[in-house]
Amino acid sequence: MLSLLSGGLARSLAPAAAVGALQLLRRSFAASAAAWSSAAEPAPAPEPSEQRQRPAAAFNFATAPRPMAPEQVPEVVGSVHSIESFSAVDGPGVRFLVFVQGCGLRCVFCSNPDTWHMARGNLTSSKDLAKKLERVKPYLTGHGTTGGITISGGEPLLQPEFTASVLMEAHARGLTTCIDTTGQGLKHSHWDKVLPHLDYALFCIKSPIPEKYEWITKRKIGPALGFVDELEQRKIPYWLRYVMMAGKTDGPEDIEALIQFCSNKRSMQAIEVLPYHLLGVQKWEAEGLQYPLTGMSSPTPEQVKSFVKALTDAGLPVLCNKLHTDSQD
Ligand code: SF4
Repeated sequence: MLSLLSGGLARSLAPAAAVGALQLLRRSFAASAAAWSSAAEPAPAPEPSEQRQRPAAAFNFATAPRPMAPEQVPEVVGSVHSIESFSAVDGPGVRFLVFVQGCGLRCVFCSNPDTWHMARGNLTSSKDLAKKLERVKPYLTGHGTTGGITISGGEPLLQPEFTASVLMEAHARGLTTCIDTTGQGLKHSHWDKVLPHLDYALFCIKSPIPEKYEWITKRKIGPALGFVDELEQRKIPYWLRYVMMAGKTDGPEDIEALIQFCSNKRSMQAIEVLPYHLLGVQKWEAEGLQYPLTGMSSPTPEQVKSFVKALTDAGLPVLCNKLHTDSQD
């Protein structure tokens, strides 16, 4: 029996229905992306987590996980790029990390251009992910940590039913939920479906300066600003992620814009400075794409320290895992 869950697929498909169901799923993905892209634009830079260590900082739990029995959570199929059973840098505690496929931005420093096209992902059931989550749960919740699941990408908001279902599976098991996002999508068709199931967000602003945002992402900044307003209105705590490129996004005007941007953000817990790195270059080449930042270097530790100091001197809470290392990548 086939049951459609507004953008996702319920399980238990009869063989004859499977092909048609997958076609419906792909059309649903395409419609979701089209609805979003026709109205506006989105944006984060998922960094290869194995290269990073999570800065030491506490998350506030403004919203508590909502109890729900696992069997009450609808099964939805999504397009997934990959998973990592354990990550220590993508939210509080130890995280089960899901990279979904599909992104509407085209960031010049993107580390994962292979996640851009939704149709290239592996069709994955939320219930199958829940089983994997169940197996690693003791490691996520051990030692009194606040671990849980983080959905990254790509852009998790572009598969709202799937993302919401996976977050609900985590909540049903007492785990915390987080998404790594640039705020893509639209309020009613995307955000309203996911945010009720979210404990916190990692939100990458790219640049608060509209022209720079557009240069980085090839999209307008409006939707990202709308999304951060939505997080604020819902009082969902978040870290603001910011990719620092020496000579591009670390000047006085960038610092001033960040300070202004953060001045009225009550739910923002910290700015996480992510120094630009070159880890994505080979993926661009593998995709047959021209890398837009050829010749650009990672910032030196001194440049990173100077940038972080400027923000902390302004009273902003800053996290940066590269402050005490000699190499950027
Ligand atoms: S293009 Fe998409 S996946 Fe790549 S850094 Fe930008 S928001 Fe992230």
